[in-house]
Amino acid sequence: MTQVQCPVCKSRIDVTPRLSGRKVKCRCETILRMPELKLDDPLIVQQSDIGQSPPIEFPCPKCAQSLKIQAEMSGQVIQCSCGTRMRVP
Ligand SMILES: [Zn+2]
Ligand SMILES: [Zn+2]
Repeated sequence: MTQVQCPVCKSRIDVTPRLSGRKVKCRCETILRMPELKLDDPLIVQQSDIGQSPPIEFPCPKCAQSLKIQAEMSGQVIQCSCGTRMRVP
């Protein structure tokens, strides 16, 4: 893990791919510039950073057609094209 040390308070800040090349405010209010992470740094490729969860697929209990919804919709009530309302698992 690449770290940057604040020259003022000496605290260390982890340089995550999200912070790469950006200016970050330290807890002591000092603005620090994060170094660019190299593209071959394995930390650049992180599934969690993409922020897109794969869609859930499940069959409609009435017409049995397969419905695709985003994982964020889980627990919500949706309506199938056949008119059946159901709760997303
Ligand atoms: Zn600081
Ligand atoms: Zn249906």
